[in-house]
Amino acid sequence: MRAALYNGPHAIEIGERPDPVIQEPTDAVVRVVLSCVCGSDLWYWRGESPHDEGPIGHEFIGVVDEAGSAVRGVKLGDMVVAPFVFCDGTCPNCEAGVTSQCVHAYIPGSGGRDGGQGEAVRVPMASSSLVPVPGSGHSDEILRSLLTLADVMCTGHHAAVSAGVGAGSVVAVVGDGAVGLCAVIAAKRLGAERIIALSRNPKRQALAREFGATDILPERGDAAAEAVKEATGGIGVDAALECSTATSGCEVASRRLAPTFRSCSPAFSRGGSTPVGCSTSKPTSTGSSQHTRRWTSVARSSR
Ligand SMILES: [Zn+2]
Repeated sequence: MRAALYNGPHAIEIGERPDPVIQEPTDAVVRVVLSCVCGSDLWYWRGESPHDEGPIGHEFIGVVDEAGSAVRGVKLGDMVVAPFVFCDGTCPNCEAGVTSQCVHAYIPGSGGRDGGQGEAVRVPMASSSLVPVPGSGHSDEILRSLLTLADVMCTGHHAAVSAGVGAGSVVAVVGDGAVGLCAVIAAKRLGAERIIALSRNPKRQALAREFGATDILPERGDAAAEAVKEATGGIGVDAALECSTATSGCEVASRRLAPTFRSCSPAFSRGGSTPVGCSTSKPTSTGSSQHTRRWTSVARSSR
């Protein structure tokens, strides 16, 4: 099969990989339908973070092409969302709902493993990792939306939930990339009354408005903190969602915007650890499988 292969900074090419096969009864092989590039893929491409040479990509949806004899919950032909961390579903961390911290966590597209930016992926622990999509015959538009459930929508949603966003909340979103914009959607969906998006990119500002942002502030750093304070009558926000993965954004979100420290930095930071100063109700990243399941059950109930 063909797959994108990382050969070092600024060197990604299409190459050949062995077709994935079932190795354990708990494996499935998923034929990739849609895949995308994460912001964290750009870090190693630029040389800002380490990455093993070989396959890449951890955000994809696809169709189950083969399923091992012990796989439950998904079957041949199912359209599935593959959360960005595969998990066993049984360890204490999984049972606590933080599946991204599974003690057997398996990230596709790392360490020589099949990646989502390839034609097919062997998925271990398929029963607890893959999330079947209800219905069939989905439009291209729906498929593109489903792809966001592999990472960015769940991550933005996790930020909003972890920071306690609810009806009437005043929220600031730091970062206007895919996760930040998804956090705006999540805050709106959870009933936030006011959503302040910190953005200076006109196209992203327009998207933030479309998704529910009520205020746009272009300031950064200390000036952003001052601008948010001024915009909220000197009080600050109820929840600050740090979605930029930059240490400076984390500093602003956790220490300046929300006096009650209800902030959350859900995404992986460059280099793989959450910067000191990020106050989160969960230590790092999202319980991706859990949130994908919640979102797909929302889709199911609204059909
Ligand atoms: Zn686990």
